[in-house]
Amino acid sequence: MQCEVTVNGKTGVATEIWNRYTDLKDRSPELGKAVAVMRLDGDGWPTIIFDQPAHEKSIQGSQTIWDFVYFHECAHAQNPSITEIGANCAAYLEMGRRGLMNYHRSKQLETMHFNMMSILPIEYAGSGAQFWHQTLQCVRKTQQESLR
Ligand SMILES: [Zn+2]
Repeated sequence: MQCEVTVNGKTGVATEIWNRYTDLKDRSPELGKAVAVMRLDGDGWPTIIFDQPAHEKSIQGSQTIWDFVYFHECAHAQNPSITEIGANCAAYLEMGRRGLMNYHRSKQLETMHFNMMSILPIEYAGSGAQFWHQTLQCVRKTQQESLR
C-alpha cells in the first residue's frame, strides 16, 4: 500500500518510517501510546512513523485493524488539519472503496475501539465507544450525501 498525498501542488507518496526496535529505549518517542503517527518533516512533507514490532503482532491478530490504522494515518497525511474522527471516517470509507470493508470487519473495528482505554482525550471523543459511534455517524452522513 502507498499513501498518496498532494502538498502545495506537489504529488507523491507519504514517507514511511518503520521504527524497528527490540529494546523499548529504542522506540521512537514520537509514537507515544500509538502504534503509528503522522508528522510533517522539516520540509512539511507528510511522514508516517510505524511501530514495527506492534505491526508484526497486529498483523497476526488482524489485517483489518492494521489496514484501518494505515488509512487513518494516511488521512492525516493527506489532510494534516483533519480531526481524529475525520481520519477514522476517511479510513472507513477508503476501506469501503477498496472492497476491504464488510459487516465482520466493521465489527472487528468496533471491538477494537470498545477495547480502547475507557477515558480518551477529547479529540478522540472521550471514549473508544464514542469515538467509534461518531466515526459511524460521519460514515453514514458521507455515504448519504454521495447518494444525493
Ligand atoms: Zn489520528
